[in-house]
Amino acid sequence: MNKIVKQFIAEVNARNQNEPEFMQAVTEVAETVIPYIVQHDIYYGQNILLRMAEPERVVSFRVAWIDDQSEIQVNRGYRIEMNSAIGPYKGGLRFHPSVNLSVLKFLAFEQVFKNSLTTLPMGGGKGGSDFNPKGKSDNEVMRFCQSFMTELFRHIGPNRDIPAGDIGVGSREIGYLFGQYKRLKNEFTGVLTGKGVSWGGSLIRPEATGYGVVYFTQNMLQNKGASLEGKNVVISGSGNVAQFAAEKCIQLGGKVLTLSDSSGFIYDPDGINTEKLAHVMELKNVKRARISAYVDKYPKAEFHAGKTPWHTPCHIALPCATQNELNEKDAAALVKNGCICVGEGANMPSTPEAIHTFAKQGVLFAPGKASNAGGVAVSGLEMAQNSLRYSWSRAEVDERLKNIMGDIHKSCLTYGTEGDHVNYVKGANIAGFVKVADAMLAQGVV
Ligand code: NDP
Repeated sequence: MNKIVKQFIAEVNARNQNEPEFMQAVTEVAETVIPYIVQHDIYYGQNILLRMAEPERVVSFRVAWIDDQSEIQVNRGYRIEMNSAIGPYKGGLRFHPSVNLSVLKFLAFEQVFKNSLTTLPMGGGKGGSDFNPKGKSDNEVMRFCQSFMTELFRHIGPNRDIPAGDIGVGSREIGYLFGQYKRLKNEFTGVLTGKGVSWGGSLIRPEATGYGVVYFTQNMLQNKGASLEGKNVVISGSGNVAQFAAEKCIQLGGKVLTLSDSSGFIYDPDGINTEKLAHVMELKNVKRARISAYVDKYPKAEFHAGKTPWHTPCHIALPCATQNELNEKDAAALVKNGCICVGEGANMPSTPEAIHTFAKQGVLFAPGKASNAGGVAVSGLEMAQNSLRYSWSRAEVDERLKNIMGDIHKSCLTYGTEGDHVNYVKGANIAGFVKVADAMLAQGVV
């Protein structure tokens, strides 16, 4: 078995040189899915995973724009259209200086499995740019978004490819992107998700990824007869996903001890309550300040510059910042300090060695493609509402989100139960694979 997996990885690696993040994501899937393929005749010999590891289309383009000093700036834009077997391409746009082909291909590949898990008809894609919105004025961000969309618009559409937000792309950026798309096409359609509620957005979409991570975490705990009530929770990041993961933890009786950004983390021994979280949202979303500013208002809290929060004792860890932010040493520290459950809010935040440590120590571990699927699931609900020209209430969308996270958890149990242990990585990978593979087989070699 190991030999077949190794051969497959060598073949994918040979055609994707210098793409470490993409290879990391493909390897994790191959290790769990290839043994399943080998045991199931309908998939064996069809090169189905090799086809899934090759994007259907990759678009790369120049984004030129003029900054506030009238200087011409040049960035690179991308859209990876990974797989459309079960629906139109769907996945976010990331604006961050670290964006390159490897990062976007790993995200697009993960997205295919994640979207399949949601039970909704969405294929997988991802895109973005190496543009850094940090420190840019609103006008600069708008000019960049307009230039980016002036090329992207010809590749997307409500039945073709529907982008959304991700790191560096929040409601402000979605607004500018949508405005330019509408102007170029002279059409008001649901071509992007994460829109404002008054212009086609869905209630609960901003909250969905963070809430979904906590619903999934709750499902894992409940399956072991435990709950979130009274548990200490350590969260990384302080962006969209982290903020609403924190909000839902607080609502369910958890004590949130940390938040972070790329400059360090804050630790509040009294817990971050609703009022303190509202201050974080004001700092991050309105003032666009650093998380370190938290301690100016709450001096009992500590700011640890340049550090991640994983050495803080806790019961539950929710990595919600970025890929590979939690390594083997961090995992060992979490286990040593009493962590029993990890729910990934970010995409691939744990390194393979960290995941191995959690597995060895019997820590409940949810991979992002399962636990953070709530965001794209509610994006799918936003698309449905746009098609219906109707909008559902907050309670209705939240209920659907809860049900979808519960269904994803059940799928993981179906394919990942090993005795009295649940291997959520295996469960999510195989459940995501089966639906896409069946559709690809039905549609022939295309
Ligand atoms: P935001 O841009 O809103 O926030 C990102 C947060 O992560 C910020 O606090 C940022 O800090 C921090 N961060 C980014 N890069 C690094 C880094 N290299 N080291 C440390 N911290 C870093 O993004 P989101 O909250 O939307 O996304 C967070 C993660 O969740 C990503 O992995 C994304 O792919 C994933 N995700 C998001 C979904 C969504 O609906 N938004 C859906 C599913 C997954 P700083 O401000 O200093 O950069």
